[in-house]
Amino acid sequence: MTGDPTRAGTRSPRLLALLDYDGTMTTHECNEVALQPFVGDPWWKLEEEACSDRMSHADVFDRQVALIRAPRPEVVRRLLEAPEPMPGLREFITRLLERGGEAAIVSAGIREAIEAFWERLDLPPVRLFASELVGEGPDDGPPYHLEFSDALGGCPRCGPDCCKAAILHRLRRPGDVVLVFGDGPSDLCPAREADLVFARGHLAERCEQEGLDWRPLTDFGLVLDEVDAWLASR
Ligand SMILES: [Zn+2]
Repeated sequence: MTGDPTRAGTRSPRLLALLDYDGTMTTHECNEVALQPFVGDPWWKLEEEACSDRMSHADVFDRQVALIRAPRPEVVRRLLEAPEPMPGLREFITRLLERGGEAAIVSAGIREAIEAFWERLDLPPVRLFASELVGEGPDDGPPYHLEFSDALGGCPRCGPDCCKAAILHRLRRPGDVVLVFGDGPSDLCPAREADLVFARGHLAERCEQEGLDWRPLTDFGLVLDEVDAWLASR
C-alpha cells in the first residue's frame, strides 16, 4: 500500500492515535503545576522514582495524590485552571477524524480535568481512559487516592492494571498505523508497540535510547504531514 497523501482516507491505512494528556496535549505538566504546591518537596522525590523505573508511574502518582490535604473543590479548580493546549491540537484531531482515523486519550490524569479541557477545545467526544480522584474523607475530600481506568493492563514495568499498552491492544485493528503521543515513563510501553511515536521530555530520551521510530512533538499541526511523508517512504 502506498501512502500518497492526496489519496489520504481512501488508500492510506487507518490511523489510530493514542494520546497522553498531561505534558503531551498540554504545553506544560499541569498535574505538576496544579498539585505539586499542595505536596511540596516529596512530590519531586517520588517523581524521580518513576523516571528511574524504581517505582511504577501509577504508584508514584497515587502516592503524590495521597499527600494532598486540600479540599476537593480547591484541587479540582487548580486542575481546571492549569492546562494550555499544545499548538495545532484542535486542527490535528479534526483532520484525523475527518480522514477516518480514531483518537483515544489514555491518561493516568484525572477524568474531570481532561473532560473540561476537551470541552474547552470544542472537539467531538473521543474515547477517554482516565483516572477517578476518590476522596475518602467528608465531602469527597482528603485523604485521596486514584482509581485508574479498568482498561489498563498489567506489565512488569508498570505494575498490575496500570499499563497503557493494553489499550493499544484493545483498539488496534488489523492494518492500522498506530501513533503514540506521550512525554512520560507511562507512555514507554505503548511507544514500544507503535508504528510512530511523537514524544516530548522523558519519553523522547527513552525512545532515543531504545532506537524507536520517533519524532519530537512540537506542533500537532505538523503531525499529519509527517505521518503522510513517513507512509509514502515505506
Ligand atoms: Zn507497561
